[in-house]
Amino acid sequence: MTSSVSNDWRTAGIVDTRDSPYARLKSMPVGSVEMADGFWKPRMEANAEASIPALHDLLEEHGVMDNFRRLIGSKQAERLGPRFTDSDLYKWLEAAALALQSYDLPQLRQSVDRVTAEIAAAQQPDGYLHTWFVGELTDTRFDTIDAGHSHELYCAGHLMQAAVARYRADGDEALLDVACRFADLLVSEFGPGGRTDTDSHPEIEMALVELYRATGRQDYLDLAASLLARPQAAFGFAPIAERRHLVGHCVRSGYLCCGGADYYAETGDEKMLANLEHLWDDLIAGKIYITGGVGAHYRDEEFGEPYELPNLRAYAETCAQIAHFMWGWRMLLITGEARFADVMETIIYNGFLSGVSLAGTEYFYSNPLAANTDSASTHPSAEGGWQRQAWWPCTCCPPNVERTIASLPGYLFTTSAEGIWVHFYDACEADLGLEDGTPVQLQVETAYPWEEDVKITLNPAAGADFALMLRIPTWAEGATVLVNGEPAAESPKTGAYLALQRTWQPGDTVELHLPMPVRFTQSHPYVADNHGCVAIQRGPVVYCFEDVDNPEMPVRDLHLADDRLAAEHWQVEHQAELLGGVTVLRGEGLRPTLSLRDGPLYRPATIRQTTSWQRVPVCAIPYYAWANRGASAMRVWVPVLRSATTT
Ligand SMILES: [Zn+2]
Repeated sequence: MTSSVSNDWRTAGIVDTRDSPYARLKSMPVGSVEMADGFWKPRMEANAEASIPALHDLLEEHGVMDNFRRLIGSKQAERLGPRFTDSDLYKWLEAAALALQSYDLPQLRQSVDRVTAEIAAAQQPDGYLHTWFVGELTDTRFDTIDAGHSHELYCAGHLMQAAVARYRADGDEALLDVACRFADLLVSEFGPGGRTDTDSHPEIEMALVELYRATGRQDYLDLAASLLARPQAAFGFAPIAERRHLVGHCVRSGYLCCGGADYYAETGDEKMLANLEHLWDDLIAGKIYITGGVGAHYRDEEFGEPYELPNLRAYAETCAQIAHFMWGWRMLLITGEARFADVMETIIYNGFLSGVSLAGTEYFYSNPLAANTDSASTHPSAEGGWQRQAWWPCTCCPPNVERTIASLPGYLFTTSAEGIWVHFYDACEADLGLEDGTPVQLQVETAYPWEEDVKITLNPAAGADFALMLRIPTWAEGATVLVNGEPAAESPKTGAYLALQRTWQPGDTVELHLPMPVRFTQSHPYVADNHGCVAIQRGPVVYCFEDVDNPEMPVRDLHLADDRLAAEHWQVEHQAELLGGVTVLRGEGLRPTLSLRDGPLYRPATIRQTTSWQRVPVCAIPYYAWANRGASAMRVWVPVLRSATTT
């Protein structure tokens, strides 16, 4: 080890910024936070006990593991799956390794060890590892990484991330050795004097930086820097530090921004950070759905123009939401600015979580904001009647969901020179340490995101002077904070962190009240799909209407009256038995007396609207929970009528 980077796997977090000179915040290990009875614990348990084992079996069934055994000679089988499918196994390994950071799962550990041994055995003598470019295709290695979409560096990146996650689970270096051998080959092939192109699917960049953090190998960081400085020639895209807008494939773009942010955290390259901030602003200004979904175009899974955000045809690939969640985390670690955490929270409770069924074993690839069942749909998610699938031919999203859920404890807290930061609220117990080494235990009690109160009990080993930094979400107007029952000295500001600086004693408490009135949101007028519509939110949760809860009319015909767009007209009702336990919103909607379906496509504009409307009870559920009760039409954005038009 020739570097000052700490490689103690026990204290490394999700994106290990312990020694990153340009990251304000230091991440915490996943294992330092134990989830208690709250929103995420049952999902993490389902992930570890159902999702991860089920996907292991599916990867076997679909030949993804046999692709490696074919190279070892232990199985005579045809190479199956798309070129990038090695990455699905690596992402599964990363998910399993992260789950092992929270749970003692001997059987899963055995599976991980067996898969690791088979991957290691399939590695070529020179360190190369990709199950497509072998045998007669060996001579074509790396020739098609750009225009040909070979995904060789992409798969290598996922291998590295899996290896680092495994190392941080228990210090086992078997997969790390495989990853380093491949990385060494990449340094010789793509490093100084070598090839000058790069993979059309980014991923390797952030993986190399994390491998540098785990091993201290400067040449891995240097290679990441070199790859980031290359254009994506096949698409005509400039290097990420020079790109003026978010363009192209959303997952690729998101991962590249992650790599750029990781590189900045180590090097302080101001040009990189300035452009990443510019690109983030481009995302927020017109390229992200209210659900945190990213990606408007089916064609090439890419960004649309600003404000081009169709609902029915939203692409919003689950992986794109994950990529932007990961990018937001890196920007948060660098800056400590709450605006990044706000977007991460929107993604995780909405456009990310809609990607997986309540059981945890079925997945959406894309996450539309409207679905119709009264007409044939060509939407990929409509296959099988708007149901999530256990397996997709391109199965990138399922293992990506699994690794994200397994990593969630690592996102709740960080430390910095100021003290301890609380970014996301869920019931848990955390063993953290201040930067001077003082241990601090925290207990968080809350039913967030359904209830408005969060209680934090601090237990430093002894009295300790530090700041507790609490994120006050942008939506939490009127938030209040009590310290040991007394109002905090400084009043909370939304969209910012509240610094509670004092000498904390064991047993001190902080009570946070985050008001969650039902909110009605409209979008920028340039979003054509949402003209005259509102979406309903409460706290961080976006709501939708599904046919199954609204028997009075198809939700395609549902309208809302403008005199009901106020919180006092809606009842907030928690239903523990519904959809795994959700808070539903009950109010009044408008039903046309005749179905809107009838009538010609185009009509004279001079004829007055003759439809009459009746007020009917309606019920909205959290968007993430839709499509868990059979085929049902759904919509997030609902048109509003002036109440004068109703009967
Ligand atoms: Zn995906």
